[in-house]
Amino acid sequence: MVEKKNIKRRNFIKLGLTGLAGIGAAPAVLKGKDKVSVYAQKKDRKFIYRTLGKTGIKLPIVNMGVMNADNPNLVAAALDAGIVYLDTAWGYQRGRNEEMIGSVIKGRPRDSYVIGTKVPGMPRERKTGYLTAETDPKNFPKLFDECLKRLGLEYVDILYLHNIKRGRDAQFEPLLKALEKEKKRGRAKFIGVTAHTHEPEVIRAALETEVYDVFLTGYNFKKDYQEELKAAVAEAAEAGLGIVAMKTQAGVYWDREKTDPINMKAALKWVLNDPNIHTAIPGFTTFDQMELDLSVMEDLTLTAQEIKDLRLETKTGGLYCQQCEQCLPQCKQSLPIPDLMRSYMYAYGYNNLEAAHELVTSFDLPDNPCGDCSDCVVSCAKEFNVKERITDISRLKNLPADFFV
Ligand code: SF4
Ligand code: SF4
Repeated sequence: MVEKKNIKRRNFIKLGLTGLAGIGAAPAVLKGKDKVSVYAQKKDRKFIYRTLGKTGIKLPIVNMGVMNADNPNLVAAALDAGIVYLDTAWGYQRGRNEEMIGSVIKGRPRDSYVIGTKVPGMPRERKTGYLTAETDPKNFPKLFDECLKRLGLEYVDILYLHNIKRGRDAQFEPLLKALEKEKKRGRAKFIGVTAHTHEPEVIRAALETEVYDVFLTGYNFKKDYQEELKAAVAEAAEAGLGIVAMKTQAGVYWDREKTDPINMKAALKWVLNDPNIHTAIPGFTTFDQMELDLSVMEDLTLTAQEIKDLRLETKTGGLYCQQCEQCLPQCKQSLPIPDLMRSYMYAYGYNNLEAAHELVTSFDLPDNPCGDCSDCVVSCAKEFNVKERITDISRLKNLPADFFV
């Protein structure tokens, strides 16, 4: 049995998933004097601001996706350094992510930060994640109650309907009403919707409703359907939606061993060169990564080397699954392959085992989902060896949830 405390996250690969007991992403909370950060005085940084569509909120173009962060001092430093918008969700770290943010913002002036959180429609269709006739809108305000409580807030600035996977789900009337009700009650200043698959379709469907204020979209240089996505984003921005970009660094690493990082600065610049992206929420987890992301605002121009890096990197598979769903109808066992590949990226790209575990265990899968197949018939658009990745990531299934706390 490996001593929990002695295991470092970097040993993840060496030990394998089963040797990871106790390496969860349990975030601490900030207390007392820890809340004082020297980051505000550290240096004068150049900031670029854009307005988040019709919300009128002026934001720096680089903000923080907090999903992978487990260090409240980093979140505090981000705010002190000039970042304004913190993006979280009801489900991140089983609620501890919102609690951590709550501890950081406690005592800060309410107009000094912008909080966005996300609540899913529940329940959903298992394999596809689609909303169904069973999706009960009564769950929505209950889950949102939990968000507010954890954050210690009376309202959030942006409340999103989380992870919508097809156009018609963005128009799901009972949840639209639930969102609008929260806005009327004043518990959400603005409402939005998020997608990291079929984004152009979801964006256009969201626009048709004329209900949403903000769209949070997957957006990066590795997307296969960049032109279509850019066009949909432009339409949405033109219509007044605020546009926030996530998944901007396309999985962060190319390889499972994390020896080959994506050119993260170039990747973020690429996103922000689209003026219709009002802000990006890279998920930095270290102070160095934060510095790197913030430095992008000094000059958004892509250098010749950066362009070369991105061109080269576009051609390789890496860890980023396009969520194109091309694999879904091919699999003999009807496995939710795109979600399993996303889980793989969370584990090996983001180092976020808890998020990977949560996703893997959200499906009722056998311990070895590919065990009955001698040959894999799936042809992945990115040439991933899906059988190998599924077999690997499925080992997380047997770890209990409290393993990460
Ligand atoms: S695993 Fe491959 S085919 Fe399936 S969604 Fe991801 S990129 Fe597309
Ligand atoms: S090996 Fe796995 S991914 Fe491939 S067809 Fe069989 S069950 Fe599906």
